[in-house]
Amino acid sequence: MVVWTACRVKFDEPLPPKGAEVTCVDTTCKWGVSAEMTFGPIVLLVAAILIFLGLAVWLGARIRRKRTARAAATQEFPAKWDRLLGSAFPLYRRIPTEVRDPLRRQMLAFMADKNFEACGGLEEVSDEMKLLVAVQACLLVWDDPRVPPYPELRSILFYPSTFRHSADLQFAADDEGVLLEEGSSPMLGESWDSGSVVLSWESVRRGGSNVEDGMNVVIHEFAHQLDQEAGSADGLPRLRTVAEHREWAEAFGAAWEKFTARVHHRRDLVLDPYGATNPAEFFAVASETFFEKARQLRESYPEVYEQLAHFYRLDPAEWRRIVT
Ligand SMILES: [Zn+2]
Repeated sequence: MVVWTACRVKFDEPLPPKGAEVTCVDTTCKWGVSAEMTFGPIVLLVAAILIFLGLAVWLGARIRRKRTARAAATQEFPAKWDRLLGSAFPLYRRIPTEVRDPLRRQMLAFMADKNFEACGGLEEVSDEMKLLVAVQACLLVWDDPRVPPYPELRSILFYPSTFRHSADLQFAADDEGVLLEEGSSPMLGESWDSGSVVLSWESVRRGGSNVEDGMNVVIHEFAHQLDQEAGSADGLPRLRTVAEHREWAEAFGAAWEKFTARVHHRRDLVLDPYGATNPAEFFAVASETFFEKARQLRESYPEVYEQLAHFYRLDPAEWRRIVT
């Protein structure tokens, strides 16, 4: 028989094994019950309360974000923003009318929901900066019913130009946000599954203004965000059915083989060779190409074009050419 007192155990006795017979022998013990009866439920109750409070806070924040984003989406889209986008992001002029309205609503919700932060000596994040990211990010999810778009994403960090790579980094927060390690490769953008995207403003501006070179850092990083929503980034974003997964895997698997062989033989490429790094990069690079060199992608990799057209619910190869 295990002899143990509820009062003493508080100070110096180990807890009895679960299910052990317990007798209180301390005459000063006012509880007269086993530790399992005395402390177990209290600990469980405290844990349950903490979990409940945590969930309530999380749910409350989620609901507030939804309300804010929904309210923002009903606001009028300023005409001057349309003009600004028309010049800073020429692809905007090609987007079909039936896509533009839902796209604008997504942009308003996106801009109201995300934190935009200036880093690395950048003084502020202007409306133009927010707009240029919002339009390209939301183009990928223009008819996604989730509110706000990219629900797991909280922050977009802007650096003035390229910043240092942070793959094996020491992460340290300073007054301006994220401090990246010195001595590693310069980066144009990064997508984190912990709720942030980091961008070089110079690259965002250049990528937005040239929409026919197949290079677009915003589309690239937000394609990664969609990939990361489905778990680890592996080139397989969130799809709806098993059949869609199978078709995606077949199409991208075959295209990956063809593409990596072409890169190996230094053949003429439609896609940026950086896409040969791994399947996640292949998907991100194919997404850039899908919007900026749509006809070429459809010709060289029809199976990939078809999958992306279905995924993004868009057919940019059929959009009218830009009249300059
Ligand atoms: Zn990438």
